[in-house]
Amino acid sequence: MTVQLKIKKYVTITGVLICKTGLRIGGSREELEIGGMDNPIIRDPVDGLPYIPGSSLKGKLRSILEYKYGRVGSQGNPCGCAQPLDACPVCTIFGPHLKPVHELGPSRLIVRDALLSEQSLDKLSKLNREEGLQYAEVKTENIIDRRTGIARQGGLRTQERVPKGTSFDLNMSLRIFENDDEAKMVSHIKEALELLESDYLGGSGTRGYGWVEVKDLTTE
Ligand SMILES: [Zn+2]
Repeated sequence: MTVQLKIKKYVTITGVLICKTGLRIGGSREELEIGGMDNPIIRDPVDGLPYIPGSSLKGKLRSILEYKYGRVGSQGNPCGCAQPLDACPVCTIFGPHLKPVHELGPSRLIVRDALLSEQSLDKLSKLNREEGLQYAEVKTENIIDRRTGIARQGGLRTQERVPKGTSFDLNMSLRIFENDDEAKMVSHIKEALELLESDYLGGSGTRGYGWVEVKDLTTE
């Protein structure tokens, strides 16, 4: 099937993403200093505000759908089957992984960076002034020595997180080409957002971080 490459419309999907627990999406130093004392979260370089990169959110939604529909590629890679929407809900919407030649046309979903909501900006700014925090909380964790059951010396690690209750504005744009099944694509995206609430966003999710709620979802 060759996709006719003519845009019919854009569907805008908006909502609010609320952190029910502290959220951690690592900044650039994380790779270098795993376990170090300084694990900053990602921030906008201009205004210093935490945000959720569109790439992180898109990757997470994609992987949720891959697990849901058994589309995880070989060696745990993202799906690159490049089959049409009916056979694979992932490749048309998110683009087939590492497959430069295919018949699907461009990835349909554009995920914008999710920026700090006005309300959270006010709240966190106040916290900044009162406690000298940089729009984040600092969490310290121990590594427990398995033989003694007590915290290992030097096993402390400090991580920054966006505090619980913080909200971000979600914004996505879905490109609908002629012959695309708009309803089906929108429903897969909503499905992924719903499953995200049972999963987690960012790092250390199996240890309580990154529990999020998606609210006020609109499509137009
Ligand atoms: Zn696929």
